[in-house]
Amino acid sequence: MSTGTEQSKAWFDRAKAAIPGGVNSPVRAFNSVGGTPRFMVRGEGPHLWDADGNRYVDLVSSWGPMILGHAHPAVVEAARRAATSGLSFGTPTIGEVELAEEIIGRVEPVEQVRLVNSGTEATMSAIRLARGFTGRSKIVKFAGCYHGHVDALLAQAGSGVATLGLPTSPGVTGAQAADTLVLPYNDLDAVRKSFVDNPGEIAAVITEAAAGNMGAVAPDDGFNAGLREIAHEHGALLIMDEVMTGFRVSAAGWFGLEGVAGDLYTFGKVMSGGLPAAAFGGRADVMAKLAPGGPVYQAGTLSGNPVAVATGLATLRAADHAVYAALDANAKRLGNLFHAALLEAGVAHHVQYAGNLVSVFFGETPVRDYAGAQASETWRFPPFFHALLDGGVYAPPSAYEAWFVNAAMDDEAFSVIEAALPAAARAAAGAVQ
Ligand code: PLP
Repeated sequence: MSTGTEQSKAWFDRAKAAIPGGVNSPVRAFNSVGGTPRFMVRGEGPHLWDADGNRYVDLVSSWGPMILGHAHPAVVEAARRAATSGLSFGTPTIGEVELAEEIIGRVEPVEQVRLVNSGTEATMSAIRLARGFTGRSKIVKFAGCYHGHVDALLAQAGSGVATLGLPTSPGVTGAQAADTLVLPYNDLDAVRKSFVDNPGEIAAVITEAAAGNMGAVAPDDGFNAGLREIAHEHGALLIMDEVMTGFRVSAAGWFGLEGVAGDLYTFGKVMSGGLPAAAFGGRADVMAKLAPGGPVYQAGTLSGNPVAVATGLATLRAADHAVYAALDANAKRLGNLFHAALLEAGVAHHVQYAGNLVSVFFGETPVRDYAGAQASETWRFPPFFHALLDGGVYAPPSAYEAWFVNAAMDDEAFSVIEAALPAAARAAAGAVQ
């Protein structure tokens, strides 16, 4: 239960003077839900504590990475051991090879990987590589899918771009936007037409392997397979963005659930264990075009950082069958609690899953694309969110985000959620547009 927010308020005032909007990533600012962002000072297991001493059950899990919960002893020990041996060398290291092999061992279509520092860098590099490999310029992306803040990929993006209601971003040039064809998610006819209208010009289709950045919206059966077929028929590559789903929805990510192989993959979040690391990889013949072996340039001073690599490896090695079973069970348990509370309060809703990503959409209609997400009753979300926060549950501060469970959630954590939900459901019921 909340014991006040004075410290968070004071820190947010200081933050706003020093940092644009007071945050280093827009969704953290609570713009779409209102109120004061909580300044977290500690995490352990399924919990976070803020600067005022309030404890929360964390349903954001650092936007995905913390599948084991916070401060998992094996991960902390791996980071400590790596840090004691030196923080960065700017040379090849053994850990990088081991992490690359771990990723390749889990995701069959990935024959080689290159480590980078963020998911944004991974998608940016994968697109450059796809363009370099095919000699073509255009990229197909889907409305509501977010691939990081890469210029060419911001058009009708999900996540913070959706939360702030931006069509795209000033600073993206007309030329960059013109090379991006934005299509409705789950619409293969639109993809076919796009290839017919742009013969020989499309380098790649990039898609979230399952959409999580407009809320959890799984691909229709056959959608990803259709993308692969159409792209290949026209000499283009399929880039599966598994930054969010990778190593979370199964040991092999969405590929492990569906088995549709992309040509290139992007990863981040879980594979870094909470430190800044990400990767892109895929077919060896495509990856061979990367410098230094090939002509497509890509580099990074801190890429493959030893502490980030050790943390990622420790996370993946600890993520056994029991962890994935717990993630799936916790997602279902959370979704069932949402459903029961909202039913009781008489709020029309759909609990949606993409693997163990969960979302609640308010309204009568299930959501299968961005237009559907935008048409849902998002105005019910802020009071729902704040009632949960007051009850000690830290939810994603946006109607357009997936909720991320972790394997550390126990009965006590669920009892906090269960106790907070009736008031949250009533708040959603009483919301006015
Ligand atoms: N791709 C997807 C699917 C994501 O969800 C995100 C971030 O949420 C990114 C790319 C960008 O990753 P990062 O925030 O590490 O740059």
